[in-house]
Amino acid sequence: MTVAPPLNPPVRTLMGPGPSDIHPRVLEALGKNTVGHLDPYYLSLMDDVQRMLRELFRTQNELTMAISATGSAGMEATVVNLIEPDDKMVVCVNGVFGGRMADVAERAGAKVVRAERPWGEVFNVEDLRSVLAKERPKVVGIVMAETSTGASQPIEEISKLVHEHDALLLVDAVTSLGGIPVEVDGWQIDAIYSGSQKCLSCPPGLAPISFSPRAMEVIKSRKTKVRSWYLDVSMLASYWGSDRAYHHTAPINMSYGLYEALRLIHGEGLENCYARHQLNHVALASGLEQLGILYAAQEGHRLPMLNAVKIPDGIDDAQIRRELLQRFGIEIGGGLGAFKGKVWRIGLMGYAARSGNVLLFLGALEQLLAEQGHKFQHGAGVAAANAVYLDQP
Ligand SMILES: *Cc1c(COP(=O)(O)O)cnc(C)c1O
Repeated sequence: MTVAPPLNPPVRTLMGPGPSDIHPRVLEALGKNTVGHLDPYYLSLMDDVQRMLRELFRTQNELTMAISATGSAGMEATVVNLIEPDDKMVVCVNGVFGGRMADVAERAGAKVVRAERPWGEVFNVEDLRSVLAKERPKVVGIVMAETSTGASQPIEEISKLVHEHDALLLVDAVTSLGGIPVEVDGWQIDAIYSGSQKCLSCPPGLAPISFSPRAMEVIKSRKTKVRSWYLDVSMLASYWGSDRAYHHTAPINMSYGLYEALRLIHGEGLENCYARHQLNHVALASGLEQLGILYAAQEGHRLPMLNAVKIPDGIDDAQIRRELLQRFGIEIGGGLGAFKGKVWRIGLMGYAARSGNVLLFLGALEQLLAEQGHKFQHGAGVAAANAVYLDQP
């Protein structure tokens, strides 16, 4: 057998829907000495991770931890612990990830009712009131930052409605956490999950989750066993809690990465971190406007960390994305589902949300669009973004 070549991954600028750029301090943390998963050092690191996650989720929830798997496992963990066979769940679907949640819930044995909105739009209280009054679900699931459309879903009002109907609110915060405010206690969210590779500047592999005391009561009074052994939070809680009962071998070095990522966010300060995402989004949007490129999501509900924009007529989607990668080392995302071939998804998540990335991307895009004969004033995109940065105090 011939041995495969040595590892030599290219340096990329990750500006797609995730994974996003990894902060150098996080990459360095991943290579630190591995200890055992019951080593006192690791146990105290778990406590710190929990504490920093609670601060990030803005919650006092005791059950706040990181699942050893990606964001989709966070989705599965929240659903499978709250749902028993034949429970009713309303899932709000206005993009790929709402659709995935409905699929996960069906597989968990729920009777799923899909509430739908067109892609790029968000739900309001009036859309859901009659559905909840009629269906009386146990759980309502909704995606806060729909990464397939770039739409930002307001949660607070919907949470009130859900609780007026005595249901539990389950929120997908995979793309929102670390990029825009997430107020678990303030908005009375009952179950929430995220992923390490979007706005946390960490590689994929961990899914922060949190359950409210109300959700824990529901879990404690289940009549049937949770259908997933690995994701049963009661067992996971005894590893993360004071029992420290062995459950599975935690991915030690990934936890180092998350630990460092959380230190970075809290060191910067949550408000500063959100303001940085917003500033870079405004700079990017100003630049794109000069190139005649429009957003796909509803006005007033656009995510700063995921810019889904319409591909101009006559432009070759695949060629632009290929050349961005090959000639400039930049990765952006193409469209999914209903948006396939119609939108680009430009991520400004975590460490990727910085002016160097915005200017590099706009400069590269201008060159490629000009080569394809797209009409715009050359240089205007970069200049507009710079004007936003120069306007900062
Ligand atoms: C990325 C993403 C997921 C899935 O996370 P994975 O880490 O890819 O499993 C779920 N929901 C949303 C909104 C996402 O953006």
